[in-house]
Amino acid sequence: MNYSSPAVDVFVPDGRSVAEALARTTHLCLAAHQDDIEIMAYHGIGECHGRKDRWFTGVVLTDGSGSPRSGKFANHTDEQMKAVRRAEQRKAAKLGQYAAVIQLAHPSTVVKSSKSAAVLADLAAILSSCPAKIVYLHNPADKHDTHVAVFLRCLEALRALPKGKRPQQILGCEVWRNLDWLVDTDKVLLDDSANPALAAKLIGAFQSQIAGGKRYDRASAGRRLANATFHTSHATDAAKAITWAMDLTPLVLDEKLSVEQFTLAHLDRLRADVAGRIRKFA
Ligand SMILES: [Zn+2]
Repeated sequence: MNYSSPAVDVFVPDGRSVAEALARTTHLCLAAHQDDIEIMAYHGIGECHGRKDRWFTGVVLTDGSGSPRSGKFANHTDEQMKAVRRAEQRKAAKLGQYAAVIQLAHPSTVVKSSKSAAVLADLAAILSSCPAKIVYLHNPADKHDTHVAVFLRCLEALRALPKGKRPQQILGCEVWRNLDWLVDTDKVLLDDSANPALAAKLIGAFQSQIAGGKRYDRASAGRRLANATFHTSHATDAAKAITWAMDLTPLVLDEKLSVEQFTLAHLDRLRADVAGRIRKFA
C-alpha cells in the first residue's frame, strides 16, 4: 500500500503483512498525534488485547515535529523529535498488541487544510481495506486546533465511503477538553477498567512527552477515575475508569448534517439541563 508522505511509518507488531493487519481490524482509532490514541481509545486497545477475534489498529496523521521538548529532549531538532516519537508510538503498539500502527507523517499545516487531497487519499486507502466496526476519533468540541482539523478530515473520508461500507459506530473521544459536560443521555460510556497496568504502560511509552513535566500518564488515569466516580452521585462505582465519548455516527450516516449544528445541539441540551435544575428549586 502506498501513502503520500515518504516519511510514513507502518508497523505490524506480529510481522504479518499490512493488508492482513488491516483486514482483521475490528477497532480503529484515527488520531492527530503520537500518544493521542493511548489517551483517547484505551477502550478499544483493552477490548482487543490478547484476543484472536478482535484487533485494534491505530493511525496517527501528523509527524509530531511541533511538540514541546525539555529535559533530555531539550536540544533535539525537529527531525530527532520525529524519530523519537515514531519509536515511542511503535513501542506502544507492541505493548498493546495492536494489529498495526500507521504513522502518516503529515505536517500539521497540511492536515489543517481542507484542500489537502493527500490526507484524504491516505485515509481512503486505509478505510477501504479495513472493516472496522467501531472507529474512535477526536471530538468536534476538542480545544486543540489540530485535533478538530483531523476530526474533519476523518469525517470527510468516512463520508466518502459507500453507505454499506461505513463503520457501525463512530465515537468522538476526550483529549484536550473533557466530555463530562455532556448531558448524561448524550454520553457514550467507554469502560476503561480492564488491565490498568497495561493502560499505564501505554502512556508511559511516551517519555518524550512526559519528561518535561507534563504528566499525561497520571492525568489520563486521573481523568478516567474522576469520570467513573463523578458519574452518578447515588450509586457506587460500577466502572473503575471511564472515558466519555460523543456519538458521531449520525454525522457519518448523513453527509448533509452540519458538524457545527450537530455539535452545538449538545451545548443546547447542556444549557437546558442547567436552566431546568435551577428553575426546579428557585
Ligand atoms: Zn494530540
